[in-house]
Amino acid sequence: MVVLESLRTTNMTASAKGTIEEPGKQVRQKSGLNRAILDKGWHRLELALRNAARKPGTRIVLVDPAYTSQTCYRCKVVDANSRKSQAEFVCTSCGHTDHADVNAAKNILHAAGHAVPACGDLGVTRSVKQEPAPPRGQAHQPALSLVGIPRI
Ligand SMILES: [Zn+2]
Repeated sequence: MVVLESLRTTNMTASAKGTIEEPGKQVRQKSGLNRAILDKGWHRLELALRNAARKPGTRIVLVDPAYTSQTCYRCKVVDANSRKSQAEFVCTSCGHTDHADVNAAKNILHAAGHAVPACGDLGVTRSVKQEPAPPRGQAHQPALSLVGIPRI
């Protein structure tokens, strides 16, 4: 199983130009951020993972990214102030410390237990190729992969 944040890069990279009546703020900064997001090739990474996930027994799960970077993995308290920097997470409630991306990745993986498989709505339209039955006499034990995508 591969768990990904369901990042909406289209929304994330929307232009900040605004209109003539209401010009946008920090247009040049947002433009640079957009370039950084698109340069990461997140969509291409997801496509490559989906291609690799066609192998038997592999599954891709998308998780709502809301608050995954602000939630303490240990005590589940959500506080934007716990995110001290790009890399540092220090929980304001319990004092738990971790690399911010690792803390977020753990939250994403945990949330996957409640997520709908990305390969079909509630599994009704799931392709047989993507979810084959385990071989006879063998229990289904999916490999677990943790994919953390750095937040910007
Ligand atoms: Zn905590």
